[in-house]
Order: sequence, then C-alpha cells, then structure tokens
Amino acid sequence: MDPMDMWRMVAAEAESFTAALRGLPVGPQVSPAEVRGELERRFPLDRGTPLHRLLPEVGEVLRRWTVHVTHPRYFGLFNPTVREAGMAGEALAAVYNPQLAAWSHAPAANEIERLTLRRLAAALGFGGDGLFANFTTGGAEANLTGVLAALARRYPEAAGRGLWALSRRPAIYLSGEAHHSFVKIARMCGLGTEAVRNVPVDDRLALDPAALQRAIHADRERGFEPAMVVATAGTTGAGAVDPIPDLADLAEECGAWLHVDAAWGAAAALSPRLRPLLRGIERARSVTWDAHKWLSVPMGAGMFFCRDPEAAARAFAVTTSYMPERAGEEVLDPYATTAQWSRRFIGLKVFLALAEIGLDGYRGLVERQTEMGDGLRRRLRAAGWIIANDTPLPVVCFTHRDLREGLTSTAAVLGEVYRRGRAWISDVVVGGRERVLRACITSFQTEEADLDVLLEEVEAARRATRRA
Ligand SMILES: *Cc1c(COP(=O)(O)O)cnc(C)c1O
Repeated sequence: MDPMDMWRMVAAEAESFTAALRGLPVGPQVSPAEVRGELERRFPLDRGTPLHRLLPEVGEVLRRWTVHVTHPRYFGLFNPTVREAGMAGEALAAVYNPQLAAWSHAPAANEIERLTLRRLAAALGFGGDGLFANFTTGGAEANLTGVLAALARRYPEAAGRGLWALSRRPAIYLSGEAHHSFVKIARMCGLGTEAVRNVPVDDRLALDPAALQRAIHADRERGFEPAMVVATAGTTGAGAVDPIPDLADLAEECGAWLHVDAAWGAAAALSPRLRPLLRGIERARSVTWDAHKWLSVPMGAGMFFCRDPEAAARAFAVTTSYMPERAGEEVLDPYATTAQWSRRFIGLKVFLALAEIGLDGYRGLVERQTEMGDGLRRRLRAAGWIIANDTPLPVVCFTHRDLREGLTSTAAVLGEVYRRGRAWISDVVVGGRERVLRACITSFQTEEADLDVLLEEVEAARRATRRA
C-alpha cells in the first residue's frame, strides 16, 4: 500500500472514531467466544491481506468491543481521553523508532525527554543538578524503580549478595489504600509480600502518622528495618492524600526513603489552587507520576523523579562490551540507569502535548476536571446520594440508602449501567469498610451535560435493581 494512502486511512479512522464516539455505547457486552470466533473468521493469517482491507476491519472490531476509555462519559480508572498531540507523538515515535538506550544513539530524543521531565519536575519542587528522572511504562515501573533505588542506597552490599544476606529485613510502609503494585514489587524484588506493611488510615482514608510510628516501632522489635515509607498522593480508590510532611519527618527520623506515589494526583501540582494538596512532595526522595493518567496522553507513559541520582545509578549499573562504556560527563545512558534496555521514545507524546498547550493549558484542564468533580458531587447529593470520600480531587465515591439497606447492590447497579451503555463507572471498597460506587472525571471533554446523563443513569439503575 502506498504510505500516503495508509496515513490517510489511519487519519480517516481517527477522525471518524472521534466524531462517532459520543454516540457509541461506552462499553461492550460480549463473550470471549464471540470475539475469538469473529477474529478467526476475519483474519485467517495463513496468507497476507492488503493493509487497505485490514485497517478498516481492525477499526471496526476495536470500535465494537472496547470499553471506550476516551469517551467523555467514561468515569473510570484514570484512563484519559487522549490529546491529539499525544497521538501524533505515538505515530512519530514509531516512524523514527529511535533507540534511547544509549544517549549517543538518540541525542534528540533523549534530550526532548530530559527537557520535558525537568519542566514537570520543577512543578513538583524538584529541580537543579540533583535531579534524576526517566520515563517508564507506567506507575508500576516507576514505583518499582523507587523501591530498587531505596534498596540500592540503603543496602549497597545486597547488589552482589542479595537481600537474603541482610541481617535485618527491609520493610516498606504504606497505607491500606495504597496501590497494589507494591505487592508485586515486593515479590519481584525478593523482599516478599510480608515486607509490605499496611498502616491504618484515618477517617479521610489518609495514612495515620501515629499508626505509622507505632508500626515501625513494633516491627523493629521483630527484626524489620524501615527501608521505605510510601505516601500516596491521590489514592486510586478514593483520591485520598496522605500527610506528606508528617511522613517526611518520620522517614527522616528512621532513615527510610520517602517515596510519593502520585501516579494520578501529581497533576494537581500544575494548578496553584490544588498545589497545596501536595505540600511536602518536594521532600520526597522519589516520586511516581503517570503522564498517561491526568496528563491525557496515550498509554504507556509513567515518570520517575528522584533526588538521589547516585542511588538510581547504583540500582541499575551495568557494563557490557557492546554498549558504550560511559556516556560522558554530561549525560547518562538510560540502559545503565533505568530498568529498561531497549527503550522506546515514550516522552515524545508527553512533550508534544505539553509543548502544544503549555503548563498554562494543563492548569486549565486540571482545574476544569476538578470543577466537574465538584459538579458531580453536587448533583449526587441533591438527588439523595451519599458521598463516601473526602477529597477535592475529581474522584467521587458514593452510595445510597438503598445500597446501605441492602435493597440493591453496587454489582447490580453497575450491571444495569453497563447494560444501558451510556456511561461507565466502577465500584470500590473504601477504607476496607464499605463497597461503594466510584466515578472519576478522566476526560478533559466531560461537560456538565455528561454529568446530568451520569446522574440519570445511576438513578435509573438504582430504581431498576431495587427490591420492593
Ligand atoms: C494507576 C496507579 C499506579 C499504577 O500505574 P500504572 O501506570 O497503571 O502502572 C500506581 N499508583 C497509583 C496511585 C495509581 O493510581
């Protein structure tokens, strides 16, 4: 196929999907057998099929059988509507396919990433010469990087001998509301999941510093050593923000590494109005921030920021005969300072999105989505729903007397909302106590009218599923 024709077809697909999106059901109702059967029928794969026939078919299948997370009425799990600049970034990264592993292979790409990361780091209060930062596949890899850097700093001897040679067991403290990636990370690092210590939260679902102090004390008696304290700034479930300054004090006192997991919430740093929520984040040794959440670029684009370049370098240091030995005085080679080896140009979509609208533009988007969250809370309250979380961030956990009295369930309500297909929400257990509904403003295109539709939908679903 002529390349220009291919690009035209891709562009036409993007355009027609975007134009049709509002009218599509937000999510599909389909069985694995149905999808598999259809794919087998359409795509035999023994022989080739011209691209001009394949592209529309793939578009059709994707359109029909996807939860459309870019839909303005997808109120789900932080997956955003994507900026067009982000789509262009993905395409151009594929066209040039620069290999970022070694700086010398991709000077432009590596420096575009560096520029982008430094501007965003400044918003966190991270800056200057002591900054180490890199793009990751997502928040999970950024959190993993934080844990590895913390271990490398505290236990340099473990790089060779392994953690099991340590006389005391490293422990990671986080709230029960923190992200579950830390459970996997504990396994991947060989720490074991027992190393992940869940600290109780207060009424606002934020980690309780007094409980942290008690937990550290009790664990020390049992042979654990506090290696890391994780503050979550914007929990996945309910948008709770842990008291970062208190946790920073405690981490300093016991020599633990403070990591702030702000995968979603860090974007609040771009708004002067919301920035106070993140007070203390500049005291963290490392921070996780996902661009593929509130910065509205396509997956995957996580970011890791660190004020201890030495630790990160130690965690991943390696030399091979086929890679350049040292990048030089002014630059770092990503292959020797990060978890990845071959490295794609993750940062281009973030750079283009940022460069197009600037930090100013992002401030506007973040504040507007926050206002939509306020608008949703107002609507739900006025209609008799009960708000179950306390955060200024646009994630709204809510329940109803009918749910609390067992006249219906979140599963039944969700089933009905999905069947109707006009909006998508999820449910979540808040504070280990109550299962509630959860709606998050993930799209910068969500408007007041979409909030009205969401309210109609949850009301209709509550009535339809309510036992008399
Ligand atoms: C989404 C999220 C993660 C995981 O990020 P991925 O990009 O999905 O890997 C980690 N922590 C928090 C608080 C999150 O919301």
